[in-house]
Amino acid sequence: MEHEPPDAKLTPGLYIVATPIGNLGDITLRAVDVLSRCDVVACEDTRVTGKLLRHLGISKPLRRYDDHAADNDRTRLIDTMRARAVALVSDAGTPLISDPGYRLVRDARAAEIPVTILPGPCAAIAGLTLSGLPNDRFLFAGFLPNRDKARGDVLDELGGVQATLVFYETGPRLVKSLAAIGETMSRRRIAVARELTKLHEDCRSGTAAELAEHYAAHPPKGEIVLLIGPPEDVPADAVDADALLREALAEMKPSHAAGKVARATGLDRRKLYARAMELRAE
Ligand code: SAM
Repeated sequence: MEHEPPDAKLTPGLYIVATPIGNLGDITLRAVDVLSRCDVVACEDTRVTGKLLRHLGISKPLRRYDDHAADNDRTRLIDTMRARAVALVSDAGTPLISDPGYRLVRDARAAEIPVTILPGPCAAIAGLTLSGLPNDRFLFAGFLPNRDKARGDVLDELGGVQATLVFYETGPRLVKSLAAIGETMSRRRIAVARELTKLHEDCRSGTAAELAEHYAAHPPKGEIVLLIGPPEDVPADAVDADALLREALAEMKPSHAAGKVARATGLDRRKLYARAMELRAE
């Protein structure tokens, strides 16, 4: 889709439009242009999007969309795109990123509908760039599961990845998540980025235990991105591998102890296993 004069009708198709995550000043010029000229806006919640459009002085037909809608609804929306310009927005930020839209984009592309992206705010990227954690490699994993076992499984699975881990989180669950992170990744640098782009924007770093203590005393309000620095970023002087191994060996066999300490520190698992065997023999 090429650049078009301001009053021209938009080419039919699907326009994925990012919207602000708090500060309405973050709407892009292109987003305003496409929202003004599209035929239909597909959105998560018509009240939320209606409010944004009113703020922008735009009036458009709104159509509720979520990925769990019946296949028929999606097919109808895709049919609309053959003759009309449909803008897809979510309540805030970039559609599809922990928000509806994946199936719509997938099916629109399969139907050879023109699809284009209007990039803009995304809380995961905003949190990552603000956190001061390494960003050359990162892994975004949406929301951590609510249940203890499932959350622990995800942390175990991702704990060894050599990248900063980025999660969405809610205030009521933050302390529990930090406690779970502290169990296997006690030395890693953690950041909690809150209320990004809003009046009370805040970004606090520390170990999981330090942050759990802080937020237990000051229950966090608002929206949160939770980040875990990569294993190799653990300060070398903070790692006493023998102490960590001894602690782990009190509760588990050497192979598991080596795995646990490897995830927490980023040290080589095989060397840790060899050392765990020596310590056990002492
Ligand atoms: N698609 C959105 C995006 O691009 O950021 C994310 C949608 S997801 C349903 C909503 C979650 O994003 C919130 O629960 C919170 O974890 C995070 N989030 C959204 N806005 C935020 C903000 N201003 N500050 C911190 N986190 C935010």
